[in-house]
Amino acid sequence: MEEKEIIKQSENLLIPTYSRYPIVLRKGRGVRVWDINGKEYLDFLAGIAVNVLGHCPRKVVMAVQKQVQRLVHVSNLYYTEPQLALAKILIKNSFADRVFFCNSGTEANEGALKLARIYMKSKFSIDRYEFISTYNSFHGRTFGSLSVTGQEKYHHGFEPLLESVKFVPFNDVQAIKDAINDKTCAIILEPIQAEGGINLPERDYLKKVREICNSERILLILDEVQTGIGRTGKLFAYEHFGIEPDIMTLAKGLGGGIPIGAILTKEEIAKAFGPKTHASTFGGNPVACSSALATLDTVLEDGYLIDHCQRMSKYFMKKLNFLKDKYPEKIKEVRGLGLLIGVELTFDAIEIVKKCMEKGLLIGTAGDGSVLRFTPPLIIDKDDIDEAISILDKVFREA
Ligand SMILES: *Cc1c(COP(=O)(O)O)cnc(C)c1O
Repeated sequence: MEEKEIIKQSENLLIPTYSRYPIVLRKGRGVRVWDINGKEYLDFLAGIAVNVLGHCPRKVVMAVQKQVQRLVHVSNLYYTEPQLALAKILIKNSFADRVFFCNSGTEANEGALKLARIYMKSKFSIDRYEFISTYNSFHGRTFGSLSVTGQEKYHHGFEPLLESVKFVPFNDVQAIKDAINDKTCAIILEPIQAEGGINLPERDYLKKVREICNSERILLILDEVQTGIGRTGKLFAYEHFGIEPDIMTLAKGLGGGIPIGAILTKEEIAKAFGPKTHASTFGGNPVACSSALATLDTVLEDGYLIDHCQRMSKYFMKKLNFLKDKYPEKIKEVRGLGLLIGVELTFDAIEIVKKCMEKGLLIGTAGDGSVLRFTPPLIIDKDDIDEAISILDKVFREA
């Protein structure tokens, strides 16, 4: 079928929740994807921070192939080897003692909110159920996660949401103090607000939030769905800030492209999630766990890829800042950590994204629409970056 026809039929058959770009992607290898006409693209979006090892990485493909032939799915009423192996590697490399597997970011956050509530109920005699979240945050599309997402545009039409949520500005410690009362259960935060515009925490913000959580005996939930798995130049972003969360959620990069999510927490909190409190039919599926295990194994190998991510980040940010100096009336700011990078423009970023696509570079947007979002695979090299910069240079010159 031709490209036009596939697009037309898809537009007629799929529920129209997405505004998609008019290309049909068929094949991927490393940092590149090809559409059905054979046109090649440099993929600096990577499924929005999903394909950390690029497309079809050998080790992941082999692990999935092997597992698919052995066992595709069994219920969580039974134990499997891939689930245990994945739990071990996550626990060994994080603050956590225990992990729960699910299928997506929103499902992980949904579970984290439930866990926070049931734990606080088990611990205190007064009912502590309120959540504090930040404006411009993004935590997912299901009702619980949506309710703690601090962007009005995503709430619109779906109200009433969970009532017991208070929003405060990101980077405002005093606002958190003011929002806390004897019903506060947990604070949920992205260490770096990604979808909301690549907004970085100020120095000591997360440390101060951690201190408040300790002194007020409130849980700190870190949503590392986008920042996790090496994205920011550490395995988890919290490692940059000298703190640990009580609960952390993962998804996006975790499975190397196969859907999987996870909730990580400490022993004492995990105990509150006893039998029959929470479940997920597909959570921890053997194929997804094998894929995630192969992904993590590769990311962690000698720390090579994570160091590489930091080096490529420096190089990419330097080059992006050259562009900023060259087009000061078009580019306002370059910001980010590791390979989670935002470029704030003085105008709507979508025009740039479309022009880049025409010239063979895939990138995204963030925030109010004026931010270009770069979440390339961690395996990119300097040549890939040079190529992306040269396309961006041309596009900005013409814009
Ligand atoms: C993408 C994202 C989510 C939602 O993940 P889904 O897998 O799409 O449900 C939640 N939190 C953050 C920080 C995200 O970036």
